[in-house]
Amino acid sequence: MQLHAGGLVRRARCCAAPGCPASFIDTTKRGQRRYCSGACSARLRMHRRRSSGIGGAGPDPLPLPGNRA
Ligand SMILES: [Zn+2]
Repeated sequence: MQLHAGGLVRRARCCAAPGCPASFIDTTKRGQRRYCSGACSARLRMHRRRSSGIGGAGPDPLPLPGNRA
C-alpha cells in the first residue's frame, strides 16, 4: 500500500525554540512541526505560559527593571 506515492517531500526546518540550533526534517503530513523534539515544545509551552501570565493564581511580581523600553 502506498499512499501519496511520489508525493514525498522532505522539509528541512530549524527548531523554533529560541536558543536551539537544532534542525530537523518535518515528516508530518500537514507540515506543522515546529520543534526538533518534544522537549523543546514543552519548554516553549512553559515559557509562553509564564510570560503571558496565564496559570498564575497570584498577582504579578515586581516588574523587572528594563522590562519596559
Ligand atoms: Zn529544539
